[in-house]
Amino acid sequence: MAEVRVENVSRSFGAHKALDDVSIAFPDGGFYALLGPSGSGKTTLLRQIAGFDFPDSGRIVIDGKGVERVPVEKRRIGMVFQNYALFPNMSVTDNVAFGLSVRGVSRAEIAGEVQRALDLVQLGGLGERRPHQLSGGQRQRVALARAIVIRPQVLLLDEPLSALDKALRVDMQVELKRIQREVGITTIFVTHDQEEALTMSDRIGILREGRLVQEGSPEEIYDHPVSEFAATFLGDANILRGEATETGIRLGDGTEIATRLNSMVRMTGKVSCAVRPERITILPASAAASTTGNRLAGRVSKRIFAGDSSTYFVERDGQTIKVLVQNAGQIPFDEGQDIVLTWSPESTVLIRT
Ligand code: ATP
Repeated sequence: MAEVRVENVSRSFGAHKALDDVSIAFPDGGFYALLGPSGSGKTTLLRQIAGFDFPDSGRIVIDGKGVERVPVEKRRIGMVFQNYALFPNMSVTDNVAFGLSVRGVSRAEIAGEVQRALDLVQLGGLGERRPHQLSGGQRQRVALARAIVIRPQVLLLDEPLSALDKALRVDMQVELKRIQREVGITTIFVTHDQEEALTMSDRIGILREGRLVQEGSPEEIYDHPVSEFAATFLGDANILRGEATETGIRLGDGTEIATRLNSMVRMTGKVSCAVRPERITILPASAAASTTGNRLAGRVSKRIFAGDSSTYFVERDGQTIKVLVQNAGQIPFDEGQDIVLTWSPESTVLIRT
């Protein structure tokens, strides 16, 4: 177990800056998800931490020691990748034992450690099988056992679940989290799946074009996005643009929207605000007068029914606003119906543009 810090790390490929002055502290024993669009530098960052690649500048500190020039085999790092190939001709036990054998660990010790790792991933009885006799989820557990058997200081996971189907993936998310807690290992997890990042991690960092644009707990990032990019990348958000006022923002048509009181310096000039679709309530236009909080009149253009919820698309002043409504037996609004949208200033995050 160890704290991992990357400090001012930059890495370019030719003229392209894959990592641009990235600094992140990955807490000891924590589960940290790196999120970002394709090409934002997530894998490049993992490769620097693992030692497969070296930064042009900056430091990688593991357990207080600078390791940026230490080769991969000298770092105690466990890794699981999406396409982490197991040795097909070896049994599960031998696959898991491999990392210990090459490190010269004694046979007796290997047997105990492999059993411990297989028990942890709940494959205790399948040690004699070959990889082709396992399901996709079981193979991924073997890969995980193989990574943790060497008792690494850090576990790096690069989209380890993305090859699994949805149901198995959800099971494995729970399993992975259980194992991570049990071993208490500092884990850095790359995923494209924002729901996975929100449900599994203690902290999330969002990368964009090689830069860290925001980090925090899942709640902090979801509830307090600092940019339109962060607001729309993690979760769905309606972005309303206008001019800053004393209490929030004035939209192009003059409507005043009150926002959450910001502890930040007061903003001036052009700003935006973000409102999550589930924070908005739709009411019939006739109910407008009885509402408090923010209010916008609009017209329903579409409703998409998804069983437990419906998404409404509402047009107002040339913009489409999404509203997520839990279906609880209420009469749905019709397409073309005039409605009013209401939500609280607390649910309105002011963003500098
Ligand atoms: P994805 O989600 O698609 O896996 P990513 O966020 O992991 O993307 P990286 O693989 O880190 O992105 O790549 C970041 C940028 O660096 C990309 O533009 C990529 O093309 C470039 N890049 C990565 N490795 C190399 C390399 N060895 N040579 C040249 N360019 C590279």
